[in-house]
Amino acid sequence: MTKIGIIGGGQLGRMLALAGYPMGLKFCCLDPQTGCSGGQVMPWIPGNYDDEAALKKIAQQCDVLTYEFENIPVKTVKFLQKHRSVFPGESVLEVAQDRGQEKSALRKLEIPTVDFHLVNDNDLEALKSAIKKMGLPAVLKTCRMGYDGKGQWKIQSLKEAEKLWPKLPRVDLILEAFCHFDREVSLVAVAGRNGQRNFYPLIENHHEQGILSWSRFPAPQVSSALQAQAEDYAMRLIDELDYVGVLTIEFFVKEGQLLVNEIAPRVHNSGHLTIEGAHCSQFENHLRAILGWPLGETTAHGHTLMVNLIGEFADQENLLKISGLHLHNYGKQARPKRKLGHIGVGFTDEKNLEANLEAILKLIKG
Ligand code: AMP
Repeated sequence: MTKIGIIGGGQLGRMLALAGYPMGLKFCCLDPQTGCSGGQVMPWIPGNYDDEAALKKIAQQCDVLTYEFENIPVKTVKFLQKHRSVFPGESVLEVAQDRGQEKSALRKLEIPTVDFHLVNDNDLEALKSAIKKMGLPAVLKTCRMGYDGKGQWKIQSLKEAEKLWPKLPRVDLILEAFCHFDREVSLVAVAGRNGQRNFYPLIENHHEQGILSWSRFPAPQVSSALQAQAEDYAMRLIDELDYVGVLTIEFFVKEGQLLVNEIAPRVHNSGHLTIEGAHCSQFENHLRAILGWPLGETTAHGHTLMVNLIGEFADQENLLKISGLHLHNYGKQARPKRKLGHIGVGFTDEKNLEANLEAILKLIKG
């Protein structure tokens, strides 16, 4: 029986395992945290991501390795590769871990992004000059380790930037032009070891305070040209990075044009609705991709809504009364701003989804 090792034991690892069991796969995860979400559904190896003894153990126990988040050290993937194949490989990690490198790589591939300037640590003058060149408002972000809106500050004036400066961490920063986007969408792409490539229809995303709040699939009013443009950008990245697995690209849509906000070398929160809404989920497709198996069908059936359960659980009893609703509980302790689970609800048509949206959001968010 093929056994897959997952570096990281969060909810993404958990959902990968849950998607793989029906196909007869076995799993194991490595994570520093006792009681982690993934460790509740598969054997768990405790260890930090740079713990060579633990890494060796998971490599020896498994046939193929993957990871479920992009902030594991590049060194870790290189170490694991000495023992087993790891997908995706390390080249995408170097890019995806650093917003500066990521935006520069996109620029090199002629994939549009918002305007940006890199600001080295401890250089207020560089920040001021970037603001002068680019204009305001802008968003200042740490290059590394920022996610879910952490490590970013909106800047409206030069004075505000000067006041903020002493409070900022002394790390490399990137100043991005603030994008007055019309909406946000994401593309979940899948590239198989066998060379096959598949793309899901675009997903529309709604964030609150930098955290994904809810998504719908397929995104409404997407022309075939917009979908094709997104797929072309994904293809350029897949080719450049020799990519294998699921790759997610988050876009701003402005005046009909796509601008990449960021890329994630993994299954993605916005893609959770492929569990209920697509013929083959992003999780199953990632597994098929890294095993070199034929990829699954990415087309959508019906219209699906995904709402994250963040910080606290909504009334489960009332949620489950909603027709067509599926509850995903990640088995995590409640904590403010923490993603504890999500719901996926399938509808036969867009109108039906829109008619129910407000009531479902109210039930979850109060
Ligand atoms: P990120 O962590 O970069 O994915 O940002 C989280 C969310 O913050 C995005 O999905 C947007 O809603 C918002 N955001 C980030 N960067 C910008 C920007 N340059 N302009 C406007 N909104 C942004």
